[in-house]
Amino acid sequence: MVETCLTYEHVELEDDVFVDAVQSGNCTAANWTALREQLIVPRTPAVRVRENCNGTSPVLQEAASNGCHTLAPTVGASFIEVPIGKTVTLHAAADCAGDSVTVENDANLCETSFGSGASANDKVRSYRIQDAEVLPSSHSYDCGPTESTCVKNYNSASRLGALNKKHTVKIVRMTLEGRNTPAMTTIRNVVGNLYDYYAVASRNQVSLDIVGTQTVAVTSSNCATAKTQARQKTTNSNAFLTVYVLPGGMCSTSNAGSRTVNLKGTLFRDYAHEVGHVLGLAHGNVRDPSTGKVKSSGDSSTYMGIFASDNYNLPQLHWLGWTKKEEIVQINSAIASNGFTEITLRPVGNNADSTSPLPMGAVWEIPGTDQRLFISVPKPRLNGTNNIEGGNVFAHRAPKCVGCTGMAMGTMQMARFGAKSVNEHEASGIFIKPVGYTSHFVQVDGKSVEVFTSVTLRVRQ
Ligand SMILES: [Zn+2]
Repeated sequence: MVETCLTYEHVELEDDVFVDAVQSGNCTAANWTALREQLIVPRTPAVRVRENCNGTSPVLQEAASNGCHTLAPTVGASFIEVPIGKTVTLHAAADCAGDSVTVENDANLCETSFGSGASANDKVRSYRIQDAEVLPSSHSYDCGPTESTCVKNYNSASRLGALNKKHTVKIVRMTLEGRNTPAMTTIRNVVGNLYDYYAVASRNQVSLDIVGTQTVAVTSSNCATAKTQARQKTTNSNAFLTVYVLPGGMCSTSNAGSRTVNLKGTLFRDYAHEVGHVLGLAHGNVRDPSTGKVKSSGDSSTYMGIFASDNYNLPQLHWLGWTKKEEIVQINSAIASNGFTEITLRPVGNNADSTSPLPMGAVWEIPGTDQRLFISVPKPRLNGTNNIEGGNVFAHRAPKCVGCTGMAMGTMQMARFGAKSVNEHEASGIFIKPVGYTSHFVQVDGKSVEVFTSVTLRVRQ
């Protein structure tokens, strides 16, 4: 089916909705063109009310707008799907009155009680949708009218508030006779490792609370059927994120849904990739500057590609709200007044908080488009993870993504060159040339490795 639909030409579809379409049998050669158009249209995240106490039963009602929504007395709601960035208050009476409970994650109503202690299952008559509460943070900022170098983050405040907090995580280990699934301790370690990375990269905004672990036995070796079986057997599913770890060889790829990841193994980067989708990231692609050919998911400077990496790229870190205002500098106004600008960047590294006065990124708002170009230095030095040399300069094109929902922040690597390059490099209408750097050497395994602390670039239009 994946072959019929040529998904390798449309990597953005290999997660979430496309998998659903394939599983429902909608993906045929005859309707693929029309289906693709449907699938790539951005979807408004909606609250969905379902019939049974697991997330796989039919949808009874769907609502996206904030405010009070009413259910008919006979509806018998048993599951509420809550998109990231929203909270839903469930009420036992019509018009959002009476006994209530507020949920901020998907909620299985068989396991949810109103304030009075009465079960909410089949008893919800109305519900109120609101934006999730936003707590003040040094990383969420607005750009003032006179701050010409400020780079606005168009990710919604309520979604940033919902992402940048403690994540409740439920782990479900799927087993099937005759196949191997990693041990729960191994899975817990991988989950913990990811959140160790998030703690640093998010500047301690994201943390982990494993709220439950469960091993479920499935009887089918068919990828889609087994996933549905596991979903039906999952208890205590009211978590920010549910991680399913599949038996080896059962599914050809890992994938992500709105609050779920399915992992075909415990490879760390697979996990960082799929959770990245849940957080709103799309794939990191690469455009060959000489041929214009695009290599899908070819960017090794982000987990959102197919190669080994050790971070998300700078446009993605910015979209997640993990950079401070002064760390990203808009260069349009300087170029407009002087014809060029010079800017000194420090490497992003693991995006740890820093007291350095140097910014990590320069941003060119591409005139006449809804795109911007992020110029950054991903790594201070070469390490064992990927082949990115210390001081290498990357230019990523990314959408501003006003009002984006779902897996939206995809990037296109437009240029990549060394800190010692003597040439100008064109990307999205500007020309970038390294004109200086600072570095020192360290000894690693008897070899001398250069560690870059800054790279100075001259950028002209
Ligand atoms: Zn993906």
